[in-house]
Amino acid sequence: MAECIFCRIAAGEIPTDFLFQDEGLVAFNDINPQAPVHFLVVPKKHIPDLSSLAAADLELLPAVQQVIVKLTRELGIDRGGFRVVVNTGDDGGQTVPHLHFHVLGGRFLNWPPG
Ligand code: 5GP
Ligand code: ZN
Repeated sequence: MAECIFCRIAAGEIPTDFLFQDEGLVAFNDINPQAPVHFLVVPKKHIPDLSSLAAADLELLPAVQQVIVKLTRELGIDRGGFRVVVNTGDDGGQTVPHLHFHVLGGRFLNWPPG
């Protein structure tokens, strides 16, 4: 979608330092980090949210898990721990309507979230 910010980032239309990219996924730091480490794993395909993930796209999920494992190791938060968040819809606090996985770490993360 031409007007979608994450589609534009994934397509390379907005200069972004990718932590990871392959044919299906990109990962990059959140512009407004909520923890010392806060990056986003984003499917290149425009999928509005977790509820919209079609059966044909489910192969994205193990790929996302592999990217998270790789990057949390590289960024040194695998031992201390981290949190993966998928905000979905208005009550979930989703502000960008393109599926993305937040990965936060580098500090103790309180529970429950606000
Ligand atoms: P949501 O609120 O939809 O769960 O998360 C959207 C996230 O995308 C927010 O944490 C926000 O800071 C981040 N974000 C929004 N626009 C941009 C951008 O242009 N670049 C980057 N790197 N992050 C963005
Ligand atoms: Zn999009």
